[in-house]
Order: sequence, then C-alpha cells, then structure tokens
Amino acid sequence: MATTIDEKEVTVFGEEEAKQLVNELRVAYDSGRTRSYSWRVTQLKNILRMCDDSEKEVVEALHMDLAKPELESTLYELGMIKNACKVALKELKNWIRPEKAKTSLTTFPSSAEIVSEPFGVILIISAWNYPFLLSIDPVIGAIAAGNAVVLKPSELAPASSTLLAKLFAQYLDTSSIKVVEGAVSETSALLEQKWDKIMYTGNGRVGRIVMAAAAKHLTPVIMELGGKCPVVVDSDINLQVAVRRLIVGKWGCNNGQACVSPDYILITKDYAPKLVDALKTELDKFYGKNQLESKDLSSIVNSNHFARLSKLLDDEKVSGKIIHGGEKDKEKLRIAPTILMDVPRDSLMMNEEIFGPLLPILTLNNIDESFDVINSGTKPLAAYIFTNNKKLKEKFVMSVSAGGIVVNDTTIHLAVHTVPFGGVGESGMGSYHGKFSFDAFSHKKAVVYRSFTGDAALRYPPYTGFKLRM
Ligand code: NAD
Repeated sequence: MATTIDEKEVTVFGEEEAKQLVNELRVAYDSGRTRSYSWRVTQLKNILRMCDDSEKEVVEALHMDLAKPELESTLYELGMIKNACKVALKELKNWIRPEKAKTSLTTFPSSAEIVSEPFGVILIISAWNYPFLLSIDPVIGAIAAGNAVVLKPSELAPASSTLLAKLFAQYLDTSSIKVVEGAVSETSALLEQKWDKIMYTGNGRVGRIVMAAAAKHLTPVIMELGGKCPVVVDSDINLQVAVRRLIVGKWGCNNGQACVSPDYILITKDYAPKLVDALKTELDKFYGKNQLESKDLSSIVNSNHFARLSKLLDDEKVSGKIIHGGEKDKEKLRIAPTILMDVPRDSLMMNEEIFGPLLPILTLNNIDESFDVINSGTKPLAAYIFTNNKKLKEKFVMSVSAGGIVVNDTTIHLAVHTVPFGGVGESGMGSYHGKFSFDAFSHKKAVVYRSFTGDAALRYPPYTGFKLRM
C-alpha cells in the first residue's frame, strides 16, 4: 500500500490499478504520439530543464535519504543524467534512421535495412543507491526509443521517490510517462501485467522474481544487478594516484553503496603493507581524523543495511582484522571507511556483495593468483586492475569475465557513453548508456526489399533443374 505525503491519505495501488495504468499507457502508445521525433525531443528537453530547475530539491532529497554529499549528487546523479540527455538529443536523428544492411548473392537483387522500432510499454524498476540516475537514465533510453514508460522508484529512498513522482508529473507527458511509488506489493501488482520490456536494477534475488514474472508473458528483460567487484593492485604503479582513485571509487561513491564499488583488493603479501600505509594516509587527507562524522561520506541507507554490515564487521571470523576504521554509529546510521585484512576466504564477507564501506584486502604469493580468485567466483559487474605491466593488463582484459573493466582507475567506465554498461552472468544481462540505451529499448526489425525482377527458378518445385525462369 503506498502512503502519500499526508499520512491520513492512503492510496491503494493493487492489481486493478496496475491493469488500468497499463491500459492507459497502451492507448497512448497505440495513438502513435510517443513515436514521433518531436515528442521524444520535447520529453528529453523537459528532463534537462527538470534537472536544471530542481537541483536544490534533488540535493536535499538525496541528503535526506542517504546524507549524500552535494558534489556526489550534482556530479554522479544530475551531471550524469544531463550528459545522457544531451547525448540522446544530439544523436537521436542518427539513432532513429534505419541502418542500411548488406544483402547476399542468394537474395540478389534486393536491399535491406534494420529499422529501430519501439517495444511499446516499458516498466522500469530502479534501486535506492542512485535513485535519480538509476531511474532517469533508463527512462531517457526508453523515451529516446519512442516507448511509453512506467517508472517504479525504490521505496528505500523515499524522499527521492516522492520527488521523482512530483517532477515527472510536472515536467513530462503524463499520458505516456508515469511514476508508481511503492514497495513489494505495488511492484508485484505491476509485475502481474503484460509489459513489452522490463528493466530491473537491484539485487539478484529480486531479479529472479522479476524474471519469473516476465517469463509468464515472454517479456524480454534487462537485468542490472551487482556482484563482488575485485581490484587487483600490482606493484609497479604510481601508488598515490592508484590509492586516490581507489578511495574515490569505494568511499567517494555513496560510501561503498554502489554496484561498481570496489568490493575487495587482491595484492601480493610483499606489497600489501605499502598499499595499507598509502590508503591510511590518503583517507586521513580526504576525510580527516573523525571519518565517522565526515560530511563527505554518505550514511548507510537504513537500519536493515546497517545491521547487515554490522554483522559482517562484528564477528572476527567474518571480518578478519580491522586495520583502519571500524567505528559505527547505529543512531546516525554511519560507518567509517574500514579496511580489513586476513578475512577468511570462506566467510560471508568474501561470498556476498559487501555494498558498504568495508574493504577487505586479500594477500597472495604472486599477482597471477588473483585470476584464480576472481574466476572462482561469480562474474562481477566490474573488475579493476592497477598495473603498468603490459602482459598482465592484456591477460586481465582477455581472461577476466566481467560486465566492464577499468585499467588504472575504478568506476569511471560509467561516464563513457560510447561503451555499454551492464553485467554478465549473475551481474546481469543487457546493457545501456548512450546508443546502447536506445538499442536496449528498440526492437531491431529486419526489413528486406525486393522488386519483381530476378526471380530464381531454383527455389520453386519441382526441384529438378537449375534453370532460371526470367
Ligand atoms: P532495492 O531494495 O531498492 O530494490 C530494487 C527494486 O526492487 C526496488 O524498486 C524495490 O521496490 C523492488 N523490490 C524489492 N523487493 C521486491 C520483491 N520482492 N518483488 C518485486 N520487487 C521488489 O535495491 P537493492 O536490491 O538493495 O539494490 C542493491 C543491489 O542492486 C546491489 O546488489 C547492487 O549491486 C545492485 N545494483 C546494480 C546496479 C547496476 O546498474 N547494475 C545499480 C545499482 C544497484
């Protein structure tokens, strides 16, 4: 049951309401309005305007939900959304244009093209950690491709969810773009309906529920999931630069609550002490002496996630040795940047995505062992390596299976709109960003053109000769 701003007023959103909503959107889609170039451009421009006009409100909402630092909100949420919008506006004409395709001798004479056709009515279910980016970025792709769309933001970021609903109603075409707020029951009601495509961002357990619901209608899905993103740190590197990039990718992205956040480090026993020293030095420089209270770090999203992370931290058999941080404040939902060593490989810490400010360092006899560690787990959403060794770099790129790889940095592949963003194996399926977002929400329709000349007799029965009937 969705509760609105007024506690006394309760809006019921069940199966009937979901059915009605999809019917309304189908009528809008069938009218053809979302397919026109001008509608798509207008909506995209409105998203840009919405981001510019509402920066203050967005920053406030993110602060209420996550104590997200302002710079992270403007750069990684609004900044990324605006870039995605600008790219779509600049490229849309090219993306929409049918793509010429070669034909073969077998079909001579003929011509062919690939026509990008919207799927129809799309459901986007997003997560709490980047509540604006993970909601609006996919919506940009769905709109650019000419679809009608329903967004279901996460109930775990309630201020952001409420603001998204308000802003969408204010700035976008409400006949074809709608927001449904709510939690499991509302999402379940939506999932009972027949959609033309579903995109889900979140954990794999719920991903399986979403896929099972989609399967009932043979609805295609995009699954943006998570995993344990490894970071291999070789020894012939610029350690200070590496460490700064590591810190910003781990704690500077929502205090470790990011899908591409470094989950654990792999390093040789010999080089580990140098890395630990450098990490401590830079962490102190970035976040000061009282890191638990730093205004430049997000809080943990809620008490459930706080309890989950505390459980990892409080049991030595799971946490290993705390060599930096470890402080937490249950009332304020805060956990300081924490570095761990000697974490047992078979512990929960090393077998579940951490999704928080804890960073285990695993030591190896030689750096090549890192391939066995990574490849023995499920395929991560991202994998990182810091090295100057060309051979190691090549081996990493070619033999580590991950959604994406960054060499000598972390997380920044998200900002490169010319490469796809998505997982592989248990970290997801399908991808988006830039043109990949347009493609993700378009059916690629094969169209072959022929005239009435050049009719080869060969294909008609009786199959006895190779004569051409001209
Ligand atoms: P979450 O709790 O916000 O859940 C995601 C969505 O699923 C929400 O909209 C929620 O309402 C819905 N949901 C929850 N339970 C449901 C149920 N039983 N049935 C139907 N819908 C349900 O987010 P989360 O899962 O905690 O997000 C964290 C996970 O998401 C991590 O694993 C992270 O790595 C992953 N993630 C991936 C990406 C990516 O782009 N690949 C981005 C962010 C987060």
